[in-house]
Amino acid sequence: MTAKTTVQPTARLIEVFSAIQGEGLNVGTRQIFIRFAYCDLRCHFCDSAHTWSAPPTCRIERSPGLRNFEIHSNPVPLPILVEWVESQNLPCLHDSISLTGGEPLLHAAFLKEFLPQVRSLTGLPVYLETGGHRPEQLAIILPYLDSVGMDLKLPSVSGENHWQEHAKFLQLCQSSHLEAFVKIIISSHTDPAELEHAASLVADVSSNIPVFLQPVTPLAASEQLTPEPILAPTPDQVLMWQALMKKFVPHVRVIPQTHKMLNQL
Ligand code: SF4
Repeated sequence: MTAKTTVQPTARLIEVFSAIQGEGLNVGTRQIFIRFAYCDLRCHFCDSAHTWSAPPTCRIERSPGLRNFEIHSNPVPLPILVEWVESQNLPCLHDSISLTGGEPLLHAAFLKEFLPQVRSLTGLPVYLETGGHRPEQLAIILPYLDSVGMDLKLPSVSGENHWQEHAKFLQLCQSSHLEAFVKIIISSHTDPAELEHAASLVADVSSNIPVFLQPVTPLAASEQLTPEPILAPTPDQVLMWQALMKKFVPHVRVIPQTHKMLNQL
């Protein structure tokens, strides 16, 4: 008789920690963050370029919020990650689990196995932060998600162009009755025609989807990815662009990255 062998799913991670969500619809809530390695985009404003490739090790916070990180090697087997998340999950502390990166959907095969287990063990809702350009991978893990924050990348700000994928992605969230919101990074170089395009893309799916305009946080000189620094929009630009988008969709809020003000991770 031959013994059956099963291949243990593994993931390449950057870090696991507990912190306050600083962006979008969940701003101010407490989350267990799982930051995955790898991203297939190269946004000009990226503040997480260290996630673009997988480091040989990841760091894991032993007690939620204490920043007492331990270093472990990559890749991480599924049961170990479940154990780490469970050890973060103190009673009454967290509102949800945040899948972030990098691009978490590059780990869709792993997440398909991981999410049902972690959801049933912790009872916490699962929130996905994504570049919103991989609808096929979203479809794989849709049943195990509770909410999605989809970035809509404006070419004039990010250097990325994914209009069709964004439309498909948002449509998929809508047809699956998944709570979704759209986040758009704006800089002083934002093309208003692209904002109009973005607003009508959202309105075509549902005018009830909330949109968050997020003024870019300028990168430190040592982190800049473009020859020209990316500057935050002026106060007048922000007011004008919110008004422009509200002609198409009613729920347009302007919120900067509040976790940076609070010195969170
Ligand atoms: S999608 Fe996120 S992690 Fe990837 S390049 Fe853009 S900002 Fe950076």
